[in-house]
Amino acid sequence: MNKCPSCAYERKEFDVRCPKCGHFYPTIQELIAEEVAYEEQHSFRGWCLRIVKADNIRQALQLELRQFREELTYKGWFTLFLVIAFVFALTLSVI
Ligand SMILES: [Zn+2]
Repeated sequence: MNKCPSCAYERKEFDVRCPKCGHFYPTIQELIAEEVAYEEQHSFRGWCLRIVKADNIRQALQLELRQFREELTYKGWFTLFLVIAFVFALTLSVI
């Protein structure tokens, strides 16, 4: 990140604060925390943790599943279909 996230002013290597608008640049720790939070929000582990921590687990699960369905694109559906079809074909060939 070599520009101010607030005003896009060119950032010097060791500046802590933007000389133009006074915005504090994010530190490495903040960036890592942001990354961890994003990971928590978008990973399967984070997904499970959110459901387990919820007061009403059943409702939380339904909400997460609905959100997952809405976020899935046609490409995602096609991939899911391919995986299921493959497993189905594999099962049939074994039987
Ligand atoms: Zn700035």
